[in-house]
Amino acid sequence: MEYVIKGYEPADALRYFEEISAIPRGSKNEQAVAQYVYDFAKDLGLEARIDTTYWNVVVKKPASPGCEDKPAVMIQGHLDMVCEKNAGTAHDFEKDPLDLYIEDGLLKARGTTLGADNGQAVAYMMALLARNDLVHPPLECVFTSMEEIGLLGALQVDTSDLHSKYMLNVDCGPEGTVFVSCAGGLLQDISKKVRWEKAGGDTVSLQVRGLLGGHSAAMIDHEMGNSIKVMGRILHGIQKQMEVHIVSLSGGSKMNAIPRESDAVITVPAGQGDKAIEIASHIAATAKAELAASDGGLYLQCEKAGATERQMSLADSRQIIEFIFLVKNGVYTMSMEMPGLVVCSSNLGVATTDDTGVQLTDFIRSSDPTIRDHLDDEIRSLAQLLDIEIAPADPMPGWKYEAESPLRQLFMKLYKEQTGKEMVAVATHGGLECGILKDKMPDLDIIAFGPTADGAHTPDESLDLASFERTWNLILATLKALAEQ
Ligand SMILES: [Zn+2]
Repeated sequence: MEYVIKGYEPADALRYFEEISAIPRGSKNEQAVAQYVYDFAKDLGLEARIDTTYWNVVVKKPASPGCEDKPAVMIQGHLDMVCEKNAGTAHDFEKDPLDLYIEDGLLKARGTTLGADNGQAVAYMMALLARNDLVHPPLECVFTSMEEIGLLGALQVDTSDLHSKYMLNVDCGPEGTVFVSCAGGLLQDISKKVRWEKAGGDTVSLQVRGLLGGHSAAMIDHEMGNSIKVMGRILHGIQKQMEVHIVSLSGGSKMNAIPRESDAVITVPAGQGDKAIEIASHIAATAKAELAASDGGLYLQCEKAGATERQMSLADSRQIIEFIFLVKNGVYTMSMEMPGLVVCSSNLGVATTDDTGVQLTDFIRSSDPTIRDHLDDEIRSLAQLLDIEIAPADPMPGWKYEAESPLRQLFMKLYKEQTGKEMVAVATHGGLECGILKDKMPDLDIIAFGPTADGAHTPDESLDLASFERTWNLILATLKALAEQ
């Protein structure tokens, strides 16, 4: 192929980055890139397997001479990328190669995401497989699929023939940080079947607006208002003073986003509409004042509406309102080991109404499985009291912080030797593939890191090439140290 970046050494990691950038690889479209990596490994004479359902690839490389008895090391990253492009960019993510270019030491793709997340890991692994002049223990390279749409490939990876003691996940920048923990998740599908009856009384429509929202991992401890919870508080407040029937209730759109807006239509006894509006307005103003420092744009649009056909029974309405009012939301527990880290949280992200009744989605995140299960149990118990159903669900495992990690200590020491700077250990409340692999191989000693890259998941994504090179050298130094210790 014609390389954009000239002057490659034979097994330069960046060369492989360029090669895979020519292969479309959005999530669920990994077949071609998986096959490419598999063929590449086979051509090198290495042991490799490809999963032709999920398109994960595993490649094993024997240790460099004399290091055969050292514990194996897994290197891990994902094959898929997020496909985003600027309006007006005529790029077909199903068939066009990325249009790479370099600007001020940054690698970018014209008008689209670059896929450094996580092409960087794929490129490093290909270079490790190709080079025969390195010192390293046995290597197990794990290339996963569909990471960006829920870590789906990692969940399916067969680890039964893997023996690694250490794992290097290369999906977490910037340079200078090492990840030590991540959250797992548990999605609660909550539903309440209702009895409909003929509507009566005054109809009131309520719209919670003006909240900022945000990602339910990164922003959960920023005291953002949750529009569905605000609506629950308002409806509960009205209900304390009069009978409330729900006609409809909705809010939010994604399980992993804090909901910004929520709508409800209710009926109250004839002649009580104005009073309901007064109560609602008062509660909204109170909530707005409480959120002044973090999310103070909150406002309520509230008015009497025309008569509706049907309403939910009083008992059903009450149970739904009390559930939304009482259900735990936001930060549940904080870490005492990693200051500022949220261990467990929940986000009531979505509410919808259909002919059967009301559906809610609550997403629990936790790095600690027993705390996660405890919160899940609390919410299920509340639901049961209120005759509300929560579907059985499989949790997504997290990766709990371990104070003792020889790999992390070595990695941080080598970074300091290379740069003179202290590496910062960080934990994320987001989800990483590390949690799933740790669950499958509990004895793994894991670190997650990556070069400096900006704007992931946007067309402004860029990869700092000097950082890419330094991170490569850090990987080589780490493997060499593990082979020689
Ligand atoms: Zn990624």
